[in-house]
Amino acid sequence: MIEKSKIDEIISSYKGLPSIATICSHSSLQIFHGAKNEGLKTIGICLQGNEKIYDAFPYAKPDEFIFVNSYLDIPVSELVVRNAIIVPHGSFVEYLGEKVDNIAIPILGNRASLMWERSREKMFDWMHKAGLKTPKVFLNPKNIDRPAIVKFPGAKGGRGYVVVNSWEEYRQKIGDKKTMVQEFLIGVRAYPHYFYSPFENKGYSASKGRVELLGIDKRIESNADEIGRALHAGAHTTMSFTVVGNEPMVLRESLLLEYFEIGKKVIEAAEKLFGGIPGPFCVETIITDNLEIYTFEISARIVAGTNIFSDSSPYSIFMNDKPLSMGRRIAMEIKNAAKLKKLTEIVY
Ligand code: AMP
Repeated sequence: MIEKSKIDEIISSYKGLPSIATICSHSSLQIFHGAKNEGLKTIGICLQGNEKIYDAFPYAKPDEFIFVNSYLDIPVSELVVRNAIIVPHGSFVEYLGEKVDNIAIPILGNRASLMWERSREKMFDWMHKAGLKTPKVFLNPKNIDRPAIVKFPGAKGGRGYVVVNSWEEYRQKIGDKKTMVQEFLIGVRAYPHYFYSPFENKGYSASKGRVELLGIDKRIESNADEIGRALHAGAHTTMSFTVVGNEPMVLRESLLLEYFEIGKKVIEAAEKLFGGIPGPFCVETIITDNLEIYTFEISARIVAGTNIFSDSSPYSIFMNDKPLSMGRRIAMEIKNAAKLKKLTEIVY
């Protein structure tokens, strides 16, 4: 992984306010819109033809496009001369894979966290270090003794996951492929969107600063979320988890404290394991009928669920005197860090 000192050197050479760059996909409309509202220059890394999407949404259109033939060809030097910070999102992480580790440009947050997010095993270490309740992991599928969800390496967005109930079923359906097998948690899913700022201390304290809860979504997954209809209609089908969208969610207020604690613990464990997680992140949870909260995944960056709240959310409205999206929160943090001359604390 590129040395942090190299990234610090690059960002220290930037003059004036930095600009914000990202790949034109995932949550880029929200990221550009938020940055524009905060008066920051925006740059879209775009495939030819995709700019039409942004022409259709002029208030979220980046000030400049840099066209590439493949997202693997991030135009590093062109971005650096434009004083750019990359805001990583799900597509950025997905397309670049391990290439993220060495790209010589400041990335918002801590790129080491993206490496921890890439490996399910490392992610479980992180969640355990944070002291979170997690689903049981069947290291040996012969021990499957209850409904279990089988995840394949790299499969994100739930595609291709299989539910099995026994070793016999595992053997038939999966064979000897490399997988992670987790207990199938029963309850209601909730995906809170957090932001960690090391510069703010009023609010819910975490590590050197505070954890903010900007919103909560619930994913809509095909066919799991509508399977009752199919089964009732007499179809013989199995459950699948392909993400097709997101819907907003608010929690009963008494659960919020525990969710703030989860955010705080994830931040403080990240600090100990790999030096912290400034900026946006999300955890995926399931709440049982005993109101126990289990966490099964961490995303160490902005998640697509925040797109529901491109103006403001039922929570972010309580934190700011103007509408606040995650995209805008990111831009505010970058502006504030630039003003405090502390950009090195929030990029790597
Ligand atoms: P993931 O790739 O971990 O984000 O999982 C995709 C989807 O699979 C989630 O949004 C859940 O609907 C479902 N899922 C993942 N892990 C579990 C689990 N341990 N128990 C129940 N459902 C799960």
